[in-house]
Amino acid sequence: IEQTAYQNDKLAMLGKISAAIAHEIRNPLTAIRGFIQLLRPHLIQLGRDEYARIILTEIDRANDIIHEFLNSSKPSAPQKSVISVSSLLKEVVLLTESEALMKGCEIHLQVMDGEMYVSIDVKQIKQVLLNIIKNAMDAIEEVSDAEYTGTIHLDAKLVDKYVHISIQDNGNGMDKGLLSRLFDPFFTTKEKGTGLGLSVSYRIIRNHKGNISVDSMKGIGTVFVIALPIVSNKVI
Ligand code: ADP
Repeated sequence: IEQTAYQNDKLAMLGKISAAIAHEIRNPLTAIRGFIQLLRPHLIQLGRDEYARIILTEIDRANDIIHEFLNSSKPSAPQKSVISVSSLLKEVVLLTESEALMKGCEIHLQVMDGEMYVSIDVKQIKQVLLNIIKNAMDAIEEVSDAEYTGTIHLDAKLVDKYVHISIQDNGNGMDKGLLSRLFDPFFTTKEKGTGLGLSVSYRIIRNHKGNISVDSMKGIGTVFVIALPIVSNKVI
């Protein structure tokens, strides 16, 4: 996918806006967290400690998201470590399996060409894979056919000096018009979507000197391919 100058400008602007918003959201979250902790003894007395626990967990989750988002929108270099592709993908499957199960969706993992190693910011690349798998599940949910089983194939194979990680779904798919706007910041077709998942993912992969491509057919499904350079030296 060619990145146009226009898209570059928009991404740079997205980075600035998101960093500013993230900072502004963090402060009230910190205040809320503090006050909930002060209220906690009272909630325990009322037998409502569960509420406090949920509020704290959810605030922490929001903080994590903001943190990741700030990381990915900053132009700084990723915090790299060497990891095997199969262990990375296994972890990602583990993280998504319960949600998939609830949605009646199957995830199949296949890693070819033996052990391949990549030098990546594991948190960032996991975020990309989770974004794309989440999108695949959303696309699968859009299909309303009683006979249908939603399936996501997660495959990895070696192509030259790159590992190609493909995420293929048999969800609702996209037409050409939608496909061309996919990576635009804030482009979404979902009621509760942000339209940021793929533009941030694109940025992360480019920061890793990799590439994302996508192919889709309306009513058939979609395949995303992430190419990441492998490390030739297998010594960790
Ligand atoms: P969001 O998920 O918040 O809408 P994204 O940037 O992740 O933001 O995705 C943008 C849009 O791309 C989605 O709203 C959806 O229309 C489309 N899309 C992404 N992945 C898929 C997929 N696997 N199948 C069908 N449509 C998809």
